[in-house]
Amino acid sequence: MSSAIADIVSADALDFAADGAFDVINPATGEVFAQAPQIGDKALDLVFATAQDAFQSWRRDEGVRRAALRAAADAVEKRAGELVPVLTAEQGKPLNDALEEIGAAAAWLRYYAELEVPREVIQDDAVAYQEVVRKPLGVVAAITPWNFPLALASWKIAPALRAGNTVVLKPSPFTPLATLALGQVLREVLPDGVLSVVTGRDPLGAAMVAHPVPRKVSFTGSTATGKKVAASAADDLKRVTLELGGNDPAIILPDVDVAAIAQDLFWSAYRNNGQVCLAVKRVYAHESIHAELVDALATIAATIKVDDGVVAGAQLGPINNRPQFARVSELVTDALGRGARAVTGGAPLDRPGYFYAPTILDHVDDGIRIVDEEQFGPVLPVMSYRDEADALARANRTNYGLTASIWSGDAERALALATEVDSGQVTINSHGAGVRPNLPFGGHKWSGLGVENGPWGLYGFTELQVLAGPPRRK
Ligand code: NAD
Repeated sequence: MSSAIADIVSADALDFAADGAFDVINPATGEVFAQAPQIGDKALDLVFATAQDAFQSWRRDEGVRRAALRAAADAVEKRAGELVPVLTAEQGKPLNDALEEIGAAAAWLRYYAELEVPREVIQDDAVAYQEVVRKPLGVVAAITPWNFPLALASWKIAPALRAGNTVVLKPSPFTPLATLALGQVLREVLPDGVLSVVTGRDPLGAAMVAHPVPRKVSFTGSTATGKKVAASAADDLKRVTLELGGNDPAIILPDVDVAAIAQDLFWSAYRNNGQVCLAVKRVYAHESIHAELVDALATIAATIKVDDGVVAGAQLGPINNRPQFARVSELVTDALGRGARAVTGGAPLDRPGYFYAPTILDHVDDGIRIVDEEQFGPVLPVMSYRDEADALARANRTNYGLTASIWSGDAERALALATEVDSGQVTINSHGAGVRPNLPFGGHKWSGLGVENGPWGLYGFTELQVLAGPPRRK
């Protein structure tokens, strides 16, 4: 274990006594390279009690909170160089991508520091005074996945703290270290108890949701786990925001310039090795351009440098963890067994670690697992369709509804079709352009409940209260 990581997980750096430790694997080698603290029930009680105490003063002064979030953004930017190698070592993404993710975390903290939240005075005249105020909920349990541990943590920490809540944050057991390091960086600029990071295997997440202290659970992860979170939180009516899986379609109209869109479309599917909730996961290309598009995507895929994220020039790293690597392999094998053709890729790379060749699948259709399920990896099935009604029906036929995109030479035409797609975002001639601190992000159907980002995301960490009374003295 490097000395930097030993510092991150040392007893001095933690707010609580750990109940043992669990292994952390570098996906580029498949080897254990560190251990992270496993938090038990008693420590969790203590952390929640501390967060509850801290809430009593943190909720009172918005100016203090905004200044602290500004300082938090500065600190993350200043210490990005320390966070980058930790994130790459446990997550697998290339160093540049890790730096970009940390930049996003800082940007989200800064956005919420600067966001103006106007007072909502409904009536203030000679007859009456009425105001709607947004009160923080209390302690928030924040639970994150392994694909963007720091960026997705900031989507929760920034609005929750800005609204006046305190936060207990749990990263995925596959990527605990960068989040622990982020916690250390942020605690230097935040009052005690306002943010705690706890690490442990999956049951720790369940224990947080079932715990009596938190009043809100903000969860990002799979749909299967999200349903369990919703059921458990219902017991004491905790508020929940769920950001869940997606099976995001890209519809390619016949009038596109294939050569002009191929790079953007490729990276919309393969960024972070396809381990992005809103990655393009199914392509529906009009039959007149389908073959040309398959060729263009396969040509790009074949040139991608896949390597350990620390190697200069690596464009994609390994898949993050063994179960996900096994799942991607299984879905491709299943598709190939059902008549799909891997135009490029189609198998793991012959080396240690969880490396998989970027794969473009042709001769695929709805009804096979790689199309119907969320693959969350470097594999893209490219289907063909006959007319727009067919493409829309197929785009909408899954239980997911996170994001979608429509690609066309006629942006107005594409925009008109976009309203027919049932998902939280539909972008034209790009995919995911709607992921901004100031735009709501959330899924329809099984892709989620509630939204993150923008003022809407902040409102999700509040409860409304009406203050009504006689006219105020002017
Ligand atoms: P996961 O559901 O397995 O785990 C997510 C988190 O939940 C982890 O921290 C895990 O330890 C914790 N957890 C596990 N069981 C729990 C339980 N019973 N109660 C509470 N917490 C529990 O998901 P993952 O494999 O880490 O992440 C990949 C999934 O996340 C994909 O489906 C992806 O689409 C989704 N995702 C969604 C978004 C979004 O914004 N919609 C963003 C990123 C990832």
